[in-house]
This record gives sequence, structure tokens and C-alpha cells, in this order.
Amino acid sequence: MAYAVMLGLLASVAGPLGAGCSSDADKRRQQKPNASAWGAAARAKPYVASSRRDVFHHSDCRWAAKISERNLVGYDSPADCIADGYRACLVCKPIASRPSGG
Ligand SMILES: [Zn+2]
Repeated sequence: MAYAVMLGLLASVAGPLGAGCSSDADKRRQQKPNASAWGAAARAKPYVASSRRDVFHHSDCRWAAKISERNLVGYDSPADCIADGYRACLVCKPIASRPSGG
């Protein structure tokens, strides 16, 4: 009977310590909202306003054209604009130009 085999096991147990250090590689994807589609939908409305201003316009007002599409909000009627706290633009006068009646 031979007992000399066990000596070899002790040497192979020690692993490489410190080699498994994981570095944090955080790649952040810059997700861009589809601003053009949002602006196109808002411009299709007869009245528009900027979420950063307190004035609303006719959609064909020259000031409405200056509103950034990401801030653009569309409305179907001046009453909806006023309900949201907007006031009429003095250039395009979206309230005065509406047809009488109703
Ligand atoms: Zn205007």
C-alpha cells in the first residue's frame, strides 16, 4: 500500500486571488424622445401653445412657428387653452377671429 498520493492535492488548491475583480462599465444609452412626431401632432391642431409660455396662438401665427416642437401643445378650441391657464396672443388674436355664434 502507498500513501504518497495525497501530497499533491495541497499545492493545487490555492487559486489566483484578486483576478476576479469586476470593473463597472456603465454604458448609458441616450434615449431620445420622438419630438418631431409630437410636434407634428400638436401643429395639426387649430390652436397651439408653448408649455413654457402662457400665451396660445393660432396654429398659423408667426409666433406659433417659433415654439420649439418639444414644448408645443395643441388645442382644438380657445376655451381649452384658457382652461389650461393660457391667454390669447395679441398678434394673431385667436379669440377675436373665431366665427360668431355657438
Ligand atoms: Zn399668436
